[in-house]
Amino acid sequence: MAQSFSGGCVCGGVRYTANKLRPLWYCHCEQCRRMTGNFMAASQVDIADISVVGSPKWFYVSEKSRYGFCSECGSQLFWRNDDNDYLSVTGGSLDASKGLKVGGHIFTCEKAEYVKIPAEELTFLTYWSQPPE
Ligand SMILES: [Zn+2]
Ligand SMILES: [Zn+2]
Repeated sequence: MAQSFSGGCVCGGVRYTANKLRPLWYCHCEQCRRMTGNFMAASQVDIADISVVGSPKWFYVSEKSRYGFCSECGSQLFWRNDDNDYLSVTGGSLDASKGLKVGGHIFTCEKAEYVKIPAEELTFLTYWSQPPE
């Protein structure tokens, strides 16, 4: 049986339970950098495998790309492209992350210069050069 994960925002207004989380990736793209204040550390889950309690606020950064966060405390929780049937879930919002694997770093071409990536960790200049799985 797949491992189940739970998580939520700081104030507890938004909670979720997710199954079958994919490896976590660090996204250094400019949008994630600005939205999170550093970079996005996020796993992925199929929409069918996550249930959300509460109403995250969604902010569209482009026509189909949106970030989800708690409208009360501001915690970053989700990212989604409307063309995809999966959701990105921030690693930091998990109650416990034991068992979650790390894939590597994407969009390193847009990362903040002060962020140092260990040489042994996988890095990709863009998402599309190596789709996370
Ligand atoms: Zn909250
Ligand atoms: Zn990003």
